[in-house]
Amino acid sequence: MDLSVIIPVYNEEESLEPLIHEVRSVLDLLGRNSEIIVVDDGSTDGTYPILRRLYRMEPRLKALCLKRNFGQTAAVAAGLAYAQGDIILAMDGDGQNDPKDIPALLSKLDEGFDLVSGWRFPRMDPFWSRRLPSRIANGLISWITRVPLHDYGCMLKAMRRDIAKELRLYGEMHRFIPAIAFERGAKITEIKVHHRPRRWGKSKYSIARIFPVLLDLLTVKFLLSYATRPLHIFGLIGLMSGGIGFLIAVYLTLEKILYRVAIGGRPLLLLSILLIVIGFQFITMGLLGEMLARTYHESQDKPIYVVKEILDERKRV
Ligand code: UDP
Ligand code: MG
Repeated sequence: MDLSVIIPVYNEEESLEPLIHEVRSVLDLLGRNSEIIVVDDGSTDGTYPILRRLYRMEPRLKALCLKRNFGQTAAVAAGLAYAQGDIILAMDGDGQNDPKDIPALLSKLDEGFDLVSGWRFPRMDPFWSRRLPSRIANGLISWITRVPLHDYGCMLKAMRRDIAKELRLYGEMHRFIPAIAFERGAKITEIKVHHRPRRWGKSKYSIARIFPVLLDLLTVKFLLSYATRPLHIFGLIGLMSGGIGFLIAVYLTLEKILYRVAIGGRPLLLLSILLIVIGFQFITMGLLGEMLARTYHESQDKPIYVVKEILDERKRV
């Protein structure tokens, strides 16, 4: 299998059929051995019967129906796990991504990249509720993860199999796929792709999604930078806090001994104690983190590095 196209759908009864037809005609032209994996994320409208009908009509189509609505990230993860292609491509099921961009994504991969992400340009969504928050989120994500992409929210992306199979997605993390892949050493790029207004159905998200996204960003940043060395971050905060607390305590003690000043009721004393206690707690948390990190990596045999190639006499073919 050369190519797997993953499409998560949740209540997209009107969009699904036209989209599958578009994808088919693009795949026909590509002439690669491909499969279309539609993940029905617990739709409650007419999506399922339509999917069954399409399944009988199109031999490349595979349908994965989840028991209930697990969310877009879970649906994508289900598709990734099921996919067999050497190249795995994901796109929205609402028709906002244009399947005609697929060949351009694939040719970028042929240039040697491991992951190509779409950049919806121009973006066909309302300004205040979607484009502005998304612009801010993209800036923030690029800055914090240090993976400079213009559009993290775009589902249309293509990646090599090994990258896709390694992803472990939780929460709303499908949007951090490029950042996670980058940490594993993948070569990443983006290309501009078409974006179309939603013609049918409605968006499954509201502005409230920024909160989960922000929290996930925190998780991703932590995992990317400190998963193998939690004590470096917690311990640093702990040392600084404890150190400042200690200095204040020394100062108060000197005042007490040398100048016989009463220090019992001083706010500084409270502050000093607070900082020292917090410092100890952060260091302890870091040590616990170190133990968890070992369990995490060793329980799944997940090394802290990624090998690209091995040159070894015995492995010569
Ligand atoms: N989706 C899903 N499960 C969900 C929510 C959304 O599979 O719980 C799918 C949805 O059907 C669509 C894609 O994820 O194919 C993107 O959703 P949507 O178009 O609502 O997001 P937007 O484009 O508005 O960001
Ligand atoms: Mg959409």
